[in-house]
Amino acid sequence: MDVARLSREFVVACDFAGTLRFVDERAGQRLGVGPGRALRELCVAGNEDKLARLLAQAQRGPVEGWELALVVDGRPATVSAAATCEGDQLWIVGTLVPEHFVQALTSVETTMQESLRLHREVLTQKRELQRRNDELRRVTLELEDSNRGLLTLHAELTEAARELRRQADIKARVMANLSHEFRTPLHAILGLGQLLLEDTDGPLASEQRKQVGFIRAASEELLQLVNDVLDLTRVEAGQALMRVERFSLAELVASLRGVLRPLLAPDSPVRLIWDEPAADALLETDRAKLAQVVRNLVSNALKFTEQGEVRVSAVVEDGRLRVTVRDTGIGIPAHALAGIFEEFAQVDSPLQARLQGSGLGLPLARQLAEALGGDITVESEPGRGSTFTVSVPRVLAEAAELQTVEARSRTTAIGAASILVVEDDRKTMLMYEKYLTFAGFHVVPASSVEAARAVLTSARPVAIVLDIMLENETSWNFLAELKRDPKTADIPVLVCTVTNREQKARALGADEFWLKPIDPDRLLRKLQSLARPPRPTRVLIIDDDERARYLMARHLGDSPYELLAAETGAEGIELARAHLPQLIFLDFLLRETTAFDVLDELKADPRTRAIPVVIVTSQVLDDRDRERLLAEAEAVISKEQLSRELAIHRIRDALAKVGVADLIPGAK
Ligand code: ADP
Repeated sequence: MDVARLSREFVVACDFAGTLRFVDERAGQRLGVGPGRALRELCVAGNEDKLARLLAQAQRGPVEGWELALVVDGRPATVSAAATCEGDQLWIVGTLVPEHFVQALTSVETTMQESLRLHREVLTQKRELQRRNDELRRVTLELEDSNRGLLTLHAELTEAARELRRQADIKARVMANLSHEFRTPLHAILGLGQLLLEDTDGPLASEQRKQVGFIRAASEELLQLVNDVLDLTRVEAGQALMRVERFSLAELVASLRGVLRPLLAPDSPVRLIWDEPAADALLETDRAKLAQVVRNLVSNALKFTEQGEVRVSAVVEDGRLRVTVRDTGIGIPAHALAGIFEEFAQVDSPLQARLQGSGLGLPLARQLAEALGGDITVESEPGRGSTFTVSVPRVLAEAAELQTVEARSRTTAIGAASILVVEDDRKTMLMYEKYLTFAGFHVVPASSVEAARAVLTSARPVAIVLDIMLENETSWNFLAELKRDPKTADIPVLVCTVTNREQKARALGADEFWLKPIDPDRLLRKLQSLARPPRPTRVLIIDDDERARYLMARHLGDSPYELLAAETGAEGIELARAHLPQLIFLDFLLRETTAFDVLDELKADPRTRAIPVVIVTSQVLDDRDRERLLAEAEAVISKEQLSRELAIHRIRDALAKVGVADLIPGAK
């Protein structure tokens, strides 16, 4: 091994200019130079100045750790040099820095530079983060501001909505009150006019008849006007009043055809075609409202069709009337379809811009269709046309209900006070029937508790004979149930058993307790005392309008009903307590009280609790009032509907329910 090569030190001496005077052996070998050569020749290019500075500094004093890049063994290498001056020459001792040390240094330097770079980057990122943070804080503050703004806006909107609702309520109330104010005298004028025309109080002279005719016609017109204005408010408030008529589909189509024909100019390129209904059918609904819906759809179709045709077809199927209006017009894009039933909605189109319209037609049409128990659907294709279909029940639900009430009151022929007998033994039942019928009672037989319950849903006997043997617990429960239910609690119940259970029967509310066998004569005497003695059928009207009371008196004029009349709620309640009428007609809006107060008082008193009350109103009732009234009253009818026929039907109906003899043979 060449140990000399491993040595890392060498010595040279040079003059102040750097010319070598002495070169030791290792320097000679490693640097490949000898005396006389210039040191700067050994420098790696670019290191000459550094060497010159070393030489100059060494002349002034010893120098250590001077790093130089020299060519060693023919390759550039780092040499750590120490120099000292002696006389006119410089001694330089060189130490070769090992390669791996250089590499390590380089890598440390690189790492440091990298760290520095990273540090700088981190600083930059930190600054960026700070900037973003500031930005976020600013945005947050802005958002908080906007949020506060929105909250204020929201509160303002809520307030505005509340105010609008309040105003709508006031409007509805004002309209309802106004209508009451207008319609009460109008009904009176019409009713009195009719009486005059019927010559009830002596014949009219022909001139007088003509004048009364004018008065009636004028007041009818005025009433129609009031009704129309009200209809609009009602439809808006979802409380449309229905005027049910019976008419045929053919009639409807013919009249619509006539009304709509003038909408088309004679030279119009659009044809309006009415398909003949395949079969005629009878409709029972609000004709005016139905016609209004169809008119609206057809006029829209004509409006939005520039050429081609508008075709209307109508069919009655599965209890519903369906009218289809199909056009070949501009159509409606899919995205706009859902919106066209919104108030003020109009679809943008060049045609639209030229047309007049409010955007209220379809919403009103849909509301009307819904009021008739139906709906409107639409299908459309832009450029090809639209098809609107309105579908409503053939018979309006209200009409259907009125029919059954009328039918029931026409067919119920109760000739005597009825006794409900609950008894499962046929022979005993026959015995009851024979005796009771002979004594003038009407026996309603029930062979089980279920049958008895069914009877009680539609009739009100004057007494119940309950044979407790038949079903033991079930019968006792039934007794308890009868006495718990306010509708039946006041019907006397006569309990008959074979074993002495009087204590239990009384505890559950039995009015009489008898042990079998029963003495028929005693039973009859008892029932006769329970069933109130026959007394005239009284009807009470409570109305503060003198004309309304007068009209009712005339309606019931030649009927066997005795009419009591009260002007105030308090007077009415007093009369009801004193005379126990079979039915009360109660005006909804009395001067110093409402129907609710009167009803509450009547229901609170056991004597008047069971008297059916029919509310008569010229008021538009909102759903809540109507529901509340119907929970306590028998029916709600409008003054407009009230005729002799309806009054008598209502009375008969009420009498049938409470099981009191009705003396009118077929009221008309
Ligand atoms: P308007 O008074 O504008 O006719 P409507 O409520 O009746 O108001 O209709 C609302 C919108 O629905 C119309 O403006 C129109 O854009 C669209 N529309 C209604 N019927 C048709 C139809 N048959 N064809 C095309 N568009 C229709």
